[in-house]
Amino acid sequence: MGALVVGGGISGIACASALSAAGVEVTVKDRGRRIGGRMASRTLRDSATPFDGRPVDIGASYFTARDPEFVAVVDALVERDVVRPWTTSFHVAGPGGIEGVTTGPMRYAAPRGLRSVVEALVEESVAVESEAIVDNVTVAGGQPLIDGVAHDAAALCMPVPQARRVHADVPDSPITWEPVIAVTCVFDERSWLEFDGVFVNDDPVLTWIADDGRRRGDDAPVLVAHVHPVLSAGHLTDPSGVIPEALATLRRVLGTDALPIWVDAHRWTYAKPLAAHPEPFWMHSEGPIGVAGDLWADGPRVEAAWLSGHALGRALGAAVGEQTPPER
Ligand SMILES: Cc1cc2nc3c(=O)[nH]c(=O)nc-3n(C[C@H](O)[C@H](O)[C@H](O)COP(=O)(O)OP(=O)(O)OC[C@H]3O[C@@H](n4cnc5c(N)ncnc54)[C@H](O)[C@@H]3O)c2cc1C
Repeated sequence: MGALVVGGGISGIACASALSAAGVEVTVKDRGRRIGGRMASRTLRDSATPFDGRPVDIGASYFTARDPEFVAVVDALVERDVVRPWTTSFHVAGPGGIEGVTTGPMRYAAPRGLRSVVEALVEESVAVESEAIVDNVTVAGGQPLIDGVAHDAAALCMPVPQARRVHADVPDSPITWEPVIAVTCVFDERSWLEFDGVFVNDDPVLTWIADDGRRRGDDAPVLVAHVHPVLSAGHLTDPSGVIPEALATLRRVLGTDALPIWVDAHRWTYAKPLAAHPEPFWMHSEGPIGVAGDLWADGPRVEAAWLSGHALGRALGAAVGEQTPPER
């Protein structure tokens, strides 16, 4: 029967790896055309720019690594050239434009886009099915039934509001999720001061601008701006309606008159939870069914999603697997 992981974001892939390490046959199903979830890279096509075929990161901007187990995973990905240390410094802007620079931990990016990180983490022993929606998980006699088919274990690795649509027993959480609209702007040349990313403070339109060319390392004149959650919430049914305001703010903050040659807006209804649940995952009391993702394990970050998925996979593996996973 094996285990089914629903969701091919980084938490689902981490969960699948841990289940597989425990000797469990595991399949991942994701409703998207490709796995990656919110570590999403859109490949430009038919853009009438020189950048067709180039991926742009339209979800997570970067990630950090602090936990020793995740640090080891990231180090191995750097070794394989899947991940690159990007920067420790971002600019900070206020209503009047750029005000300074702030320094923090190393932010990691991926030359082929962040989706490639998730794809690179899929173990050979794990089967992945994309464009595969799971509608309903129930528990009967201590065993998960997934769309009517019995499995040894089920892991729902996705935002809790999405998991609750699939499995009615997942408890509601008071933690709200904020939306983000990501606006991608392709220019014909660079016409702004050098920066990696800009935190835009106290602005009702934008919160963040990333230089995707510097992030990916090819210096393409591509910027990705994130729209303020309140403004995003008002445009969930017409994401492109926010483009004029987003562009005006981006040009003002960066002090450039340049207009992009291609623009697109992508909506994330459940972009980030506003707080973290103290537990690493949720587990059903009546059977091996769990929920993981960036709501748990000190989220809302890529690292938290990996840690949560990994912890759930180990717990499910210990419950139904052939071998006891080593202690953390
Ligand atoms: C705009 C934005 C900016 C961000 N910036 C950062 C950042 O700078 N740094 C950082 O660390 N994090 C950032 N994050 C957060 C980060 O992307 C997430 O924490 C992480 O990717 C979550 O991974 P996940 O596997 O838990 O969930 P997801 O990536 O959301 O994966 C869930 C998967 O489940 C699938 N799915 C859902 N329902 C079903 C179903 N019924 N059947 C089949 N499949 C289903 C979805 O298709 C999806 O692929 C950002 C997120 C967004 C949206």
